[in-house]
Amino acid sequence: MTQSLIDNDVDMQTVDSLLRTIEKNVGLYRKYLKLKAKLMGLPKLANYDIVAPLQQASEKDYSWREAQDKVVEAYNGFDEEMGGWAEEMYDQRHIDGKVRNGKESGAFCSSWLAGKSAYILQTFNGKMGDVYTQAHELGHAVHAHLGSRAQKPSNFEIGSCIAEIGSTFGELLLTEKLLSKAETKEEKQAILARVLDEFGMAAFQVSARVFFEQSMYEAIERGEFLDGNKVARLWMAARDKIYGDSIDWLDVMKWEWTMKPHYYIANYRFYNYPYVFAQLFVFALYRIYKEEGKSFAPKLKKLLAAGSSRSPRELAMELGFDVTKETFWQKGIQQAQEFIEMLERIL
Ligand SMILES: [Zn+2]
Repeated sequence: MTQSLIDNDVDMQTVDSLLRTIEKNVGLYRKYLKLKAKLMGLPKLANYDIVAPLQQASEKDYSWREAQDKVVEAYNGFDEEMGGWAEEMYDQRHIDGKVRNGKESGAFCSSWLAGKSAYILQTFNGKMGDVYTQAHELGHAVHAHLGSRAQKPSNFEIGSCIAEIGSTFGELLLTEKLLSKAETKEEKQAILARVLDEFGMAAFQVSARVFFEQSMYEAIERGEFLDGNKVARLWMAARDKIYGDSIDWLDVMKWEWTMKPHYYIANYRFYNYPYVFAQLFVFALYRIYKEEGKSFAPKLKKLLAAGSSRSPRELAMELGFDVTKETFWQKGIQQAQEFIEMLERIL
């Protein structure tokens, strides 16, 4: 794992503390999956239901202007300077959202050095998911706005543990905005299920992949013969550690690990835990923001401006948080728990 730890500028103590927190809280994720089954009118979820959108909320359409207003308001509510940078991206027409023939699918934010503005590509179809994509990519733009002014090119590129902080934080700000404006309970359910589905995948499903990688390398170290069936058994053991009996899996899902090409790339090991790190880190930061209020905004901006000049552990330390301690990661879990409780109240 050493190579991966160096690449991501993290240490084993931090990763252990993160994974211990996940393991201790699998019950919370399973509780959400049970709630979701209830919302979908099913006795139990099957693997293909895990991230299925809820049916009952008729999808609302957003105009470009409505999306812009929601996203800018969301950022403004957190910090007016940030809201201003987001608005500038619309004013300068730096977001290519137009639907056109032959356009590349997906979305990304292309940032640039030396304080130059970023550009965003997406295909805007007026759905809630498209509004979230805008909030996400604008988070990258805000991150780049700060980093490209504060850092030299050598520290401008950010590692994967930190790269999604601005973007995911922006999504949480939008969630707050959309929830406050939602008119029906079904709409609220759809928003909460969306945020919890994503959290569940990044924090818990990806942790199953970390446990799988760990058990694979342990088996290799023991000199075990690994054929497909043996590897599939290791995968199912790691998966069950997260999901328990909360999901009905199709038998073919025992081969799920074959779908991820990263496992077979030479010298590319342990690529999963940074996703878990990033997700729980942002949820923890958001939780701290909810506790501290406005005074948290300058702290987040300082972190985003730091680029890769300091390790994630040092960055958190400067803000007064210790990522080697489970108490920090537990803050992220608390935030997820709050979303789950909100959903429970409107079941
Ligand atoms: Zn992103």
